[in-house]
Amino acid sequence: MSPEEKRECILRGVPASPGIAIGRVHLMVQREPQIMARKLAPSEVPLELGRFDQAVAETRNSIERSRERALDVAGFLVGKIFDAHLMILDDVTFHDQVRSRVTKEQFNADYIVCDVLGRMIEMMTRSAGELFRERAADIRDVRDRLLRHLHGEGDVIPAHPTHEVILLAVDLSPTEALHLDRELVHGIATDQGGLTSHTAILARSLDIPTIVGVGDITNRAKDGDSIVLNGNSGKIVLNPTSASLEEYRAKQERFRGFKLALENLKDQRATTLDGREIELWGNIELPREAESVLSHGGSGVGLFRSEFLYLTRETTPTEDEQFEIYDRTAEILAPFPLIIRTFDLGGDKFHAGIVSRDEKNPFLGYRAIRVSLSRRDLFRAQLRAMLRASSRGNVKIMFPFVTGVEEIVEARAVLDEAKSELARRRIPHDPNIKVGIMVEIPSAAVIADRLAGICDFFSIGTNDLVQYTTATDRGNEQVAAYYRSFHPAVLRLIEMTSKAGDGAGIPVGVCGEMGGNPAATPLLIGLGIRELSMTSSMIPEIKKIIRSMTFEECRKITRKAMKMNTSSDVLAYLREELKKRFADLPIWFSGA
Ligand code: PEP
Ligand code: MG
Repeated sequence: MSPEEKRECILRGVPASPGIAIGRVHLMVQREPQIMARKLAPSEVPLELGRFDQAVAETRNSIERSRERALDVAGFLVGKIFDAHLMILDDVTFHDQVRSRVTKEQFNADYIVCDVLGRMIEMMTRSAGELFRERAADIRDVRDRLLRHLHGEGDVIPAHPTHEVILLAVDLSPTEALHLDRELVHGIATDQGGLTSHTAILARSLDIPTIVGVGDITNRAKDGDSIVLNGNSGKIVLNPTSASLEEYRAKQERFRGFKLALENLKDQRATTLDGREIELWGNIELPREAESVLSHGGSGVGLFRSEFLYLTRETTPTEDEQFEIYDRTAEILAPFPLIIRTFDLGGDKFHAGIVSRDEKNPFLGYRAIRVSLSRRDLFRAQLRAMLRASSRGNVKIMFPFVTGVEEIVEARAVLDEAKSELARRRIPHDPNIKVGIMVEIPSAAVIADRLAGICDFFSIGTNDLVQYTTATDRGNEQVAAYYRSFHPAVLRLIEMTSKAGDGAGIPVGVCGEMGGNPAATPLLIGLGIRELSMTSSMIPEIKKIIRSMTFEECRKITRKAMKMNTSSDVLAYLREELKKRFADLPIWFSGA
């Protein structure tokens, strides 16, 4: 190797998972599958179709195993990636195409599978949107798995390192990323992928420092090269000089110290320097995530998205099944609170027989409390299950998607019926269970003062509040630039809600993404918010911020932010304030 090639070289990508990794390059070789077309005799066709069916069945089992592993090691969001893979595998059009082409063209199934999915991958890769490119990566992952089963190779995941390395790849499929050995892979860098790519999500869950979208790192680096990867900034130093190595070793040490300090905060309260107490809670979708909230130093669950009980199965969960889940989760958390949100089906969450996909405007349609109020049977069963769990645990009920007084009055009436039923049957429950609402629709925020009198608490759902205030579909990438979390109108609605809660003496929290966004922390506290509920992994950082600032400081920052005209001005200002105080904080800013 010439000295020229070994010269230090700086590359940049998108920081996708925090931390600093120093080590040797391992290039992960990923080849496009080489499939030969083989002409079949007409008599071989039925056999070939059977071979396809069997490979699909084996692939389904294999994806389900990955899904289980993902749920175990990385949680529900990552598990969902593999749900999407199952949908791709079981797509009826895909099956029809393969079957009819094998029958008509009389070629082997591997060749047809590769061709059908290859065309889809190509079309999506060419598309401008990141979502489509991610989908292409998922289809590629399913294709490769299916081909492995068609070739009788089973679950082999190729080309993983066997010694300690920094892994470089063009892109990593979710399956490849999921099966990485955390002990051996100290860092990841990929040519492709964005912050929301599945590799990035997985890497964050596995806590591996990662940079994506580097461009052509796999061409520039060689196996065994020395490399430094800064997952906090997105900077990569290839063949670092000894001075650079020293600099990064010191940074790595500082970062480790910082992480350790965060861990040590676990049992500390989230109290500002001048004594204002803030509750830090976790958002969960599965009961088992409650443990992670506690291990991250959270003091309860501010949002249990109970609709996931529906989304993870095809049948409707019974009252007893729900009771068991709520009771178990409350038991894990006790004495801390568990706020269970009643089903929020609809919008982008569908369930056969209850909410179908064929609405014109699902986000403005049959969703959440509207479904509950029209399906009293399901609603009452859920409320009974929650009430029963409240006899032993600190359970609270929260209604989503409330537009005004009417829904609260109606829902409370159903709750009273459920209480009477239980009382009649002498089933223990807490008759004074606390009942709150999500403030996530602008109409509710605007009349929060009227709603405060009939609620025990408010929880602001900023994800939907931003969507409905800015008229921007939260899942539509084409208009993502309009989804402005720090839009002055959104901030005013939060302020109104907070003041209304304060006036009525009821607690107000935030459980949307903003609750776990470090940039928003001083602002929300300055606006009077007392409870923040978030992905549990964010709890330590948010706690650190709170414990390092005074309430007065937060109020000062808030006063200034509230005078700004645009979301980007507010965000830039908040970032700057945070940077001044926490230079080492690997802050994951979201929304503009
Ligand atoms: C919200 O809307 O902010 C929220 C927390 O609920 P979801 O994201 O489940 O709609
Ligand atoms: Mg919502």
